[in-house]
Amino acid sequence: MINTNISELKEQYLFSEIGRIIKSRNDVINLSIGDVSLPLPKAVVEAGKRAASELSEKATFRGYPPESGYDFFKDAVKKYYSKKGTEIDESEIFASDGIKSDMSVFLNVLSRGKTLLPSPSYPAYVEANILRGNEIEFYDGIPYKSKADIIVICSPDNPTGRAMSRDELKEWVDYAKATGALIFYDAAYEAFVKSGAPRSIFEIEGARECAVEFCSMSKTAGFTGVRCGYTVVPKECGLNKIWSRAKSCLSNGVSYISQRMAQCALTYAYDDIMANVNYYVENARIMSNALKGAQKVGGTDSPYIWLKCGDSYAEFYKLLDIYKLGVTPGIGFGERGREYVRINSFCSREDALRAAEGLKRYLIFD
Ligand SMILES: *Cc1c(COP(=O)(O)O)cnc(C)c1O
Repeated sequence: MINTNISELKEQYLFSEIGRIIKSRNDVINLSIGDVSLPLPKAVVEAGKRAASELSEKATFRGYPPESGYDFFKDAVKKYYSKKGTEIDESEIFASDGIKSDMSVFLNVLSRGKTLLPSPSYPAYVEANILRGNEIEFYDGIPYKSKADIIVICSPDNPTGRAMSRDELKEWVDYAKATGALIFYDAAYEAFVKSGAPRSIFEIEGARECAVEFCSMSKTAGFTGVRCGYTVVPKECGLNKIWSRAKSCLSNGVSYISQRMAQCALTYAYDDIMANVNYYVENARIMSNALKGAQKVGGTDSPYIWLKCGDSYAEFYKLLDIYKLGVTPGIGFGERGREYVRINSFCSREDALRAAEGLKRYLIFD
């Protein structure tokens, strides 16, 4: 009766245990939780209040939303893309309640097969593919000898903080097309890109034929609690009509209030949400600068720094006990994270500055 793949999931002890340990120490700076900390811009909250008020009036009450999202929301997303230099059509935009669930649902529209996942990997990719019963192969660079049905790419990446270059992404697109694979592109951190790295896979020639892009307001606009995202499914990839049909039987849409708040965030309050993103980017820069000379990636174009340091558990405890810094052991993201820790910058400026001092000392003494 139960989907037996459920029993294949590993116990989620690592992240909850790490969270519990860090929380139990009240003198520790938490650089571990993968959640934003700045409040929503006032204008975004006002948009939510207005939307809620409309629901109290007979003339403006709304029930079920359109499955793929309201036109006003899709229009805001389209304009947001346009601003980034990528043109997409409204019919290619599908509102979602976030990437985690939408990616998982999307897997169910595709036949079972083999999925290539980055290593280290955001745990949700692994779990969604296990639940679906897909075969998983981890990659570190393009596995030219392998062939898969789905390739998951996260850029800028969680946990490594690395943003792929245009050339690198082009090679992935060419590889996907040559092998007939579909790319799942996770663009959760696109707003953090400040270098010239691509913010959408559709900036790459040929990507519209082989990729779908998962986006979220979670990190872009602090919507981890509000819940609103969108998935872009281009006409050329052959899945646009199918996804549209699937949406109508798998979802009853995303809350009107969330979509009004997202619309405001992407348009009227755009500068406010970018100010928040830039605040985290600056935190990352401050901590990354403190680690000059260390082996690390990320710290620019991302709220994450991926620091090579030796056994990730031993270093986690050292950073915790001696330097009062709560990081995430890299091993939690897979075998290739064994010698790393992830440092995140979703903290206050004050904490980032204090953490930078601790990291400097750590680098000198340990
Ligand atoms: C935070 C995050 C997301 C966002 O997920 P939502 O379900 O939209 O909140 C997606 N992918 C990665 C890699 C993340 O770190």
